[in-house]
Amino acid sequence: MIKQMQRVIYIQDARIENILNSLSKSNFRSKFHLKQKDKDYIKEKGIEKIREHAYDFINKRLALEIIPNDGKQTPMKGHPVFIAQHATATCCRGCLYKWHKIKPGTKLNDEQKDYVVNVIMTWINREINKDEKN
Ligand SMILES: [Zn+2]
Repeated sequence: MIKQMQRVIYIQDARIENILNSLSKSNFRSKFHLKQKDKDYIKEKGIEKIREHAYDFINKRLALEIIPNDGKQTPMKGHPVFIAQHATATCCRGCLYKWHKIKPGTKLNDEQKDYVVNVIMTWINREINKDEKN
């Protein structure tokens, strides 16, 4: 059972690594980076709190079946998760379909929400670690 769980996590991690590598080759997506104030905010709140915020935004703005303002629901600044959403193409259902093959017009299930949040948090962790190496 544990082995199987580890395998599922491994497959998802590999998928996320692949998609993040493809996104980093997109001119548009690769322009998004966390600013120092975003990193300070993450440090102040703690990474688990940021993950909670990510779930909250996804539930309210992305997971719905019908989103009248789809494509415009994610601000370009104001929260590190918003920046991460643009960088990872999880900003709207159009981008989510194009990059992650999750179809619009249906509610996201728990597994899909977990996946989206994991993509966002993996990107955020990369941004933070990237700087620590410099
Ligand atoms: Zn979008």
